[in-house]
Amino acid sequence: DSLANKIAAGEVVERPASVVKELVENSIDANSTWVKIEIKEAGLQVIKVTDNGDGMLEEDCETAFLRHATSKIKNETDLFHVRTLGFRGEALASIASVSKLTVQTSTGEHAGTRLTLEGGKLIDKQKSAARKGTEIMVSELFFNTPARLKYMKTIHTELGHITDLLNRLALSHPQIRFEVTHNGKNIFKTAGTGDVLQVISQVYGMNVAKHMLPVKHETLDFSIGGFIAKPEVTRASRNYMSTIINGRYIKSVALNKAIIQGYHTLLPIGRSPIVVLSIQMDPILVDVNVHPTKLEVRFSKDKELFQAIEQTIKETFREATL
Ligand code: ADP
Ligand code: MG
Repeated sequence: DSLANKIAAGEVVERPASVVKELVENSIDANSTWVKIEIKEAGLQVIKVTDNGDGMLEEDCETAFLRHATSKIKNETDLFHVRTLGFRGEALASIASVSKLTVQTSTGEHAGTRLTLEGGKLIDKQKSAARKGTEIMVSELFFNTPARLKYMKTIHTELGHITDLLNRLALSHPQIRFEVTHNGKNIFKTAGTGDVLQVISQVYGMNVAKHMLPVKHETLDFSIGGFIAKPEVTRASRNYMSTIINGRYIKSVALNKAIIQGYHTLLPIGRSPIVVLSIQMDPILVDVNVHPTKLEVRFSKDKELFQAIEQTIKETFREATL
């Protein structure tokens, strides 16, 4: 079973940023309004995520570290109506199997629980304070999988992946207050007011925020909203294009293409815009169970969606230039 967890870890935990993603998404699923992320040495030394969410009871906390333990879906029907970010129940077990991990959690009503695991094995269990929420600290990631450790790029690259991810998570959840530090230094903070433009300003800076146009469009199936930068604000990479489906940020080459086509001839060649586009649709129209990281999704009305996006963006610029 510890072998099975290590194998699953190979899919879910590719690099430090994958751990950050899984931990923060769990905090979001637990209804947190505040999430603090403390990183040391690009996550290779420490990744600590603290939230003020629902917390776990002692027995739930123990089972959470078993493979395929999820509290989020109960049956197959639920799989097609996923509203939480997680549902596969393999992240915590996978992360624990390739690190030294401590978790401290409480629902706020009872004394909390503190577990220490090493390579997935429980080595200590204690009662802890009843502060509502959860704190998970992952140390020495990949200490027992030297082959994986060898694949890690420079601190600079790994940190880049982490900030890129956290930017998108913050942009997808403007109602949550995020605090991010690296080696004790503040990277960014969001206010958690629910204002996306404010988050854009906090993660990309005021100079970007002031060039953004609001996007809003409703069709029978899709509700599209967000902000798109005027062609003046372009980047050499597509990392600044964030697409969010029902609160989950995803990567979709086709969606990005639809957005870029919406710019028509306005966008300089080789450049990509800064965009934050959030699309709400019936969960039945989107399959998130395509890949373990859930970054890729499948749409059942893909042509309609891409069409609607391209059209909406064209409209946005037309109105802006009137
Ligand atoms: P999944 O998110 O797919 O359900 P995980 O392995 O990520 O699976 O987490 C397992 C379970 O642990 C979750 O279903 C949830 O019940 C619990 N859990 C994990 N992190 C937290 C957290 N920060 N706050 C409360 N519960 C959590
Ligand atoms: Mg999860």
